[in-house]
This record gives sequence, C-alpha cells and structure tokens, in this order.
Amino acid sequence: MLNSSTLITLIDDQEDYLIHFLEGQKIIQEMVLTQSLQASGLNFYRDLILTTMLMTSLLKRGERLGIYIDSHYPDFHFKIETDFDGRYRSVLLPEDFKEFPQKLCGRLRLTKSFPGKRPYQSIIEINDSTIDQLMILVLIKSYQIDAHLFTSKESDQALLLMRLPPSSKKAASKLTPKEYWFSRQKLFSELFQLGLNELAAIQAFVETHGLKFLHAKALTFTCGCSIENMQALINALSESERQNLYQGSKELEVVCEYCKKKYQLLQK
Ligand SMILES: [Zn+2]
Repeated sequence: MLNSSTLITLIDDQEDYLIHFLEGQKIIQEMVLTQSLQASGLNFYRDLILTTMLMTSLLKRGERLGIYIDSHYPDFHFKIETDFDGRYRSVLLPEDFKEFPQKLCGRLRLTKSFPGKRPYQSIIEINDSTIDQLMILVLIKSYQIDAHLFTSKESDQALLLMRLPPSSKKAASKLTPKEYWFSRQKLFSELFQLGLNELAAIQAFVETHGLKFLHAKALTFTCGCSIENMQALINALSESERQNLYQGSKELEVVCEYCKKKYQLLQK
C-alpha cells in the first residue's frame, strides 16, 4: 500500500517551462474505497480528480481551493476541496453515476480562500467542453496562466505544463504549452507508461532526461467534518425544514458526503 500521492514540481531550464507532475495512484485507491461508483462513472471521476488536483500546485501558503461542477447534461455534481498543505476531499454525486460524458454542459464555481482576506469566487459557464478543455479555461480565466494539461491513460498520473514568464535575463519560451508537450512527448509518454510511484524513482528518471527537481508535496485525504459542523448545518435550517428532516424522531442520522462518516444528531 502506498503512503500518499505526490505533486512534484520540475523545471525545464532549456525551454523555460515549469512542470507539475501528479502521481495520483493513492488518491485513486482511496477514491475507489470511499465511493460506490462503478465502471465508466469511476473512470470519469478518476479523470475529474486527476485534472482538478493539478490546481493544488498553484496554491500559495495558507490558501484553500474549491472547485464545484454542477452539470445538467448529464446530471451530476462534482466537488473537490484542497489546500496548500496537500489536504483534499472530493465527491461525485449521484453515487451510482455510471457514465463517462465526453462533453459537459453546466456551471463551474471556483473558490479561493486566504487567511484574513475575503474569499474569491469565479463562475464559468460550461458549454460542450471536455474536462481538459474546462480546466484550461479555468487556468486562463481564474489564474491568467498560459498552460496545458495532460492526463495519462496508462497510469493515475497527470501533467500541468506552464510557460515561465520572461525575466530580465531571458525571454519567455517561444513554444506554446502544446508545442512544448510535443517537443518533450517521448519523455512524458515514457514517464506515464512507466507509472512510477516512488518519489526517488520519479526524480531519478526526470533528472536523467534534463529536468530539474524543485520540490514535492504529499497529498492526503483529510475530510475535516465534525459533529459540530454537521449540527451547525442543521441549525442553520428553518424550523419547518428541521421538522421535516427529523419527522417526529429525536435523533437524525447524517452521513458526510465526502468521507461517508455517520453522525447522530439530537433534536434540540
Ligand atoms: Zn467527512
């Protein structure tokens, strides 16, 4: 059993590109354990998690990120919350979602919260986009970043390629993120095919191919739900909504949608 998944940041000095590499095998193992999704639904959720988790690499210290997709065709809801320290939680609903939609229609809401500052929120309307197209749109609209991302078909891994801004000493790379991918395709394809999941092995492989290792961050599933939070959610409802939930009983069982932990809440 793996200890954790890792987000590794590399730099290509020759082409002036920053590379975020997500090794997500453990995340996907945990996803399979906590969700009852099957077949295509499971594969779709895998792709959603791998592409959205790459955004963790853009967080600053203390920052939290939430990505919420409400798709009306097909009908599903996806939520992922992650922070600078690599803690994340995620869910895809309904739990028996079985499809792998090629294109999505609906709305994406992105929230960023910083300690001591007002949270930032942006909404993106989704019109017939693939997951990759949607996340590239998020990078452009919410981060003003010139980047491209790729999800592996062979392993639970994904890459975010970002062109570095020009400096006083050097102009920015002439290659667009897509052109950069093609210039390094042999290396990245081999990396995906190998499916390495140990940091030392990944580092050794990329360094022999001329990339410089900058840092790595462990990613861990941490829900953060508590009986106090659950009670606060119920308390925020109107009297009639609460009565509707309890239906005359003294106790209400609430299940956390992220980690599936059960809570017994007493009627006040
Ligand atoms: Zn929970």
